[in-house]
Amino acid sequence: MIIELQQNIKPDTLHQLKALLTINQVAFSHVEKQNIIVAPKISNKSVLSGIDGIEKVIEIDTPYQLSSNQYKKETHFLVNGTSVGNNFINLIAGPCSVESEEQIYSTAEFLSKNGIKFMRGGAYKPRTSPYAFRGLGLDGLKILRKAADEYKLNVVTELMDLSLLDQINEYSDIIQIGSRNMSNFYLLAELGKIEKPIMLKRGMSARLSEWLLAADYILSGGNDKVILCERGIRSFDPEVRNTMDVAAIPMIQDLSHLPIIADPSHGTGMAKFVHPLSLASLVAGANGLMIEIHPDPKKSLSDAQQAMTFADFEILVQEIRKLEPAINKPIDATYEEA
Ligand code: PEP
Ligand code: MN
Repeated sequence: MIIELQQNIKPDTLHQLKALLTINQVAFSHVEKQNIIVAPKISNKSVLSGIDGIEKVIEIDTPYQLSSNQYKKETHFLVNGTSVGNNFINLIAGPCSVESEEQIYSTAEFLSKNGIKFMRGGAYKPRTSPYAFRGLGLDGLKILRKAADEYKLNVVTELMDLSLLDQINEYSDIIQIGSRNMSNFYLLAELGKIEKPIMLKRGMSARLSEWLLAADYILSGGNDKVILCERGIRSFDPEVRNTMDVAAIPMIQDLSHLPIIADPSHGTGMAKFVHPLSLASLVAGANGLMIEIHPDPKKSLSDAQQAMTFADFEILVQEIRKLEPAINKPIDATYEEA
């Protein structure tokens, strides 16, 4: 249930409404920025009768509220002038991890030459083994930012922990929340308090409703810039790293207004399958792709098997350009910000 409040609601009335919900044991969230109160569907609606200051009550049948398309039909926004969502294909590419200045500069130069607007790269890496390369940390963020600014790219990088929020917020243009943190609810709630767009990856075994509820944690804090990223789910077959759930793309679009992009690199775990699954995801309706590329994949310090070469990525981008008219979505467009 989303209660839209009147612009001029009196503080006393608001207080009365909140008290009433509390007495009736309804957990709610007051999203001040949007002047709404979000609560689960309640059976006893008469609770609200007699309260002034309510503009409209929108009933939403699902447990997730703000991410539901019963609330809103479409979400798009600009990231430094580039439109995210809104029927464009957003392409994000770069290495799994930031490894060196040379690696990031050659990636940035390559991306800019190919008209790509978003560069990814992890400076803090969630590695299964504590003995694996865990990223360059702040030095990595500085390299990313410098190269991105030089080549006019946006930085997408992962936030692993609340203690790093200010740092990641300062150096990134989109904050990535990885699969392992999709259920870190206190972290998600903090992301609701900032303005930066958040790319929320699907948990390895998360149901669509759990994923959308995770998005609601961010949205109910007031940050309405959330992008979902399907990155494959863990299944029963040891042959594949993950099972790329292409079906989740149209299903999410049926349930939610949030843009959804696909990550076939983690979704398959093998470079040679990234090309077909990228095309499949776009045909299935994805609003974009995030792809791991590396100047020398064999030397990659993380996720080497799934990193595409620059040459293969260039071929993929050409194929995507051929697909543009058929799916009626152009690759990234940049506007002057108002
Ligand atoms: C990544 O994007 O490098 C990553 C660690 O992804 P995920 O959280 O999907 O495993
Ligand atoms: Mn990776």
